[in-house]
Amino acid sequence: MGLLTIGAFARASRLSRKALRLYDELGLLAPARVDPVTGYRYYAPEQVERARLVAWLRRLGMPLARIRQVCDLPAPEAAREVRAYWARVEADTAARRDLAAFLVDHLSRKEPAVSPTEPDSTPLTIRYAALSDTGLVRDGNQDAVHAGDRLLAVADGFGSGGARAGAAAIDALKSLDADGVPVGDLLDVLEDAVERARRAVRDVAGAAPAPRETGTTLTAMVRAGSRLALVHIGDSRAYLLRDGGFFRITHDHTLVQEMVDEGRISPEEAVSHPQRTLLARALTGGPEHSPDLRLHDARPGDRYLLCSDGLSAVVPEDEVRRVVAEAGDPEHAVRELVALANRSGGPDNVSCVVADVREPRR
Ligand code: MG
Repeated sequence: MGLLTIGAFARASRLSRKALRLYDELGLLAPARVDPVTGYRYYAPEQVERARLVAWLRRLGMPLARIRQVCDLPAPEAAREVRAYWARVEADTAARRDLAAFLVDHLSRKEPAVSPTEPDSTPLTIRYAALSDTGLVRDGNQDAVHAGDRLLAVADGFGSGGARAGAAAIDALKSLDADGVPVGDLLDVLEDAVERARRAVRDVAGAAPAPRETGTTLTAMVRAGSRLALVHIGDSRAYLLRDGGFFRITHDHTLVQEMVDEGRISPEEAVSHPQRTLLARALTGGPEHSPDLRLHDARPGDRYLLCSDGLSAVVPEDEVRRVVAEAGDPEHAVRELVALANRSGGPDNVSCVVADVREPRR
C-alpha cells in the first residue's frame, strides 16, 4: 500500500491534521516522507498504530520525552513502562493527598474557638525509651536517637560525616522537646525545624570530603497536645501498635521501594535486592529533598516504634511485631529489639525508640 496524505492519515488514525502537525514538531511522529517542494506530509499506513498510542499517552498526561521512549519499545516493555508511569503518578498523588489532609486538619484547628494556643493543652503521658547500638560488624555508630516528652527521633547517617549528620539533624529538632509546640503553630514550627535540620546536615556535609554522599535519614514524631506530627525522610521507619494491629506508618524513600511501587519487582524480591540500601531521598549536602509530613491523633494505649534499617532490614517484621506487642514496657522493648538485630548478625548500626501513650496521671 502506498503512502497516505495527511488528510487520509488523519481519518485513519482519528486524529486532527493539527494534532499530527504538532506530533511531528514535537518529534513524536515524523511523517514517512515530506515533499521537498510543497512541504506536504505523507504517512505510512503502519504509522496509524503509533499515532493512536501517542494520542492515548498524551491523554494520560505522560511527558513528551517519556512518550517518545514508550513508542519506541516493543509492546510488552511499553506496557511495563505505562504501568510504572501510572504507579508513580499515584504515589505522587498519595503524597500530596497526605499533605492536603495535614493542611485541612491543621486549618480546621486554627478556628479560634477550638484552637488551643498553649502547648500540651490535651495532656497525655508518654513513656519512652531509646537505644542505639553499633551492631556486630561496623566500626562506629552513625545512628542517632532521641526520646523525650515531646520529641521522638531516629536518624541514620551515611557517608564520611554520617555520624555527625545524623546527630546534627536530631539536635536541630531538640528545641521542640524543650519548649513544646502550640497545636495551632505545629505546621510552621515543623517546617522551621526541618529547615534547621537541613541546614545543620548541609554544614556537616559541606565539611566532608564528598558532600553529596554525606547525609542522614530522619524519622521523628513531634507531639503537640494529643497530636503527633510525623516528619520522615529516608529509610528509617515508624510503626504503630494499636488495638492489636501493627502498622508501618512511613514509606521507605529507597530506589527499591520505588521499583516495588512501580510494579517492577515484588515486595519479596525487594527484601534481598542488591540495591536495597540505595536511598531515593535523604537530608544531604546535595539537592534538596522534602520530608513527608503526616499528622496522627495519639490515643491512650498506642505504642509507637521508630527504628533504623539496622532493625527493619535485618529482623523479619513478624518478629519485630511480636516483641513490640509482648514487651511489658518501652525499656524492655528497645533492649529486646536491639538484641534481636544482633542475634541476626548485627550487620548494621541499630536504633530503636519505643513510646507508649497513656492516660494522664491524676
Ligand atoms: Mg542503617
